[in-house]
Amino acid sequence: MATLRDVIYENVREGAPELCGKLDRNRLRCFSCGHRCPIPEGQAGVCKVRYNQGGTLYVPWGYVAGVQCDPIEKKPFFHAYPGSLAYSFGMLGCDLHCSYCQNWVTSQALRDSDAVSLPLRAAPESLAQDAIRQGAKVLVSTYNEPLITSEWAVEVFKAARAAGLKTAFVSNGNGTPEVIRFLQPWVDLYKVDLKSFDDRHYRQLGGRLEPILETIRALYSMGIWLEIVTLLIPGFNDSNDELCRLAEFLASVSPDIPWHVTAFHKDYRMMDPADTKPSDLLRAAEIGRRFGLRYVYAGNLPGQVKSLENTSCHHCGALLVKRHSYLVQEYRVTRTGTCPACSTPVPGRWALEFDGQITSTPFLPRNRSSMFTILNR
Ligand code: SF4
Repeated sequence: MATLRDVIYENVREGAPELCGKLDRNRLRCFSCGHRCPIPEGQAGVCKVRYNQGGTLYVPWGYVAGVQCDPIEKKPFFHAYPGSLAYSFGMLGCDLHCSYCQNWVTSQALRDSDAVSLPLRAAPESLAQDAIRQGAKVLVSTYNEPLITSEWAVEVFKAARAAGLKTAFVSNGNGTPEVIRFLQPWVDLYKVDLKSFDDRHYRQLGGRLEPILETIRALYSMGIWLEIVTLLIPGFNDSNDELCRLAEFLASVSPDIPWHVTAFHKDYRMMDPADTKPSDLLRAAEIGRRFGLRYVYAGNLPGQVKSLENTSCHHCGALLVKRHSYLVQEYRVTRTGTCPACSTPVPGRWALEFDGQITSTPFLPRNRSSMFTILNR
């Protein structure tokens, strides 16, 4: 019986030339994430899904390992088409190995035998058409780390754009200038998970801080709509000092970048820290505001974080979007994306109208079984 690795290695295509360089002795350099792996002949990179065979880089292609219809607030994007449906797909693998990963079943499938995930054959046009059928506005590459499967994401996004959809990445942000340039024509929205502001913490997770900061700067300067999430883990990344440095950095890129601080709960292998309390989120949010961030949100503890689930005008304080968890309860942004009380522009991507919300809880696409076949194992 074929192993998961065999199946993954059979569902590939040559990598994009923009994301690969030649080294000596038939080695290759991959530019798809901040590791910039030198890959010897016959071996794979750190992510285990991109590999060198005969001096050619092969990359994942033609499958998904999870498809779900999510409210866009779950990604989370709060300043991009509130209430819309985000048709979300993932592949397998990750370039980091966070011990608290909430998507470990797909992200760690090639490292951890407990992570059982069935890859399903998929075509870009079918994904885009199914997204339309479900009522989605945005098609999102998420669940695993999408940077390591950028070629497939772009192929799916081309079909999505042709079908009239917006596109998004939900990513750890461990990018390179090459991969961000490769994505820029095809990605409308980008969420970066800024996990810490301490390089030592990033090294525990298998990465480095600097490539993530470079990616945030690059995305903002290229005009891709950007929101940042920090999962607040007691004792790991929640010291005042670290949060101050993080907030100061974000504000230096732009005070208009929304920052979501979200509550940790015990998951995967990280069982020691206590769950994040509402007071921890409020403290982090206060630090964000003190450093000038205009849109700070607290997530994962609905109803316990005062007004930090809502969007308010930074100029006059008027309520713009009222939320409870992923549910949009009120929507007051004007057709031109401004505050109705003082006409201040609200940064983000806004629809002409709020059309109501298809769902405030995730659901599996209807008629899923007729769309996907399990890859042979
Ligand atoms: S995507 Fe990242 S981890 Fe994977 S081979 Fe390329 S540089 Fe290495």
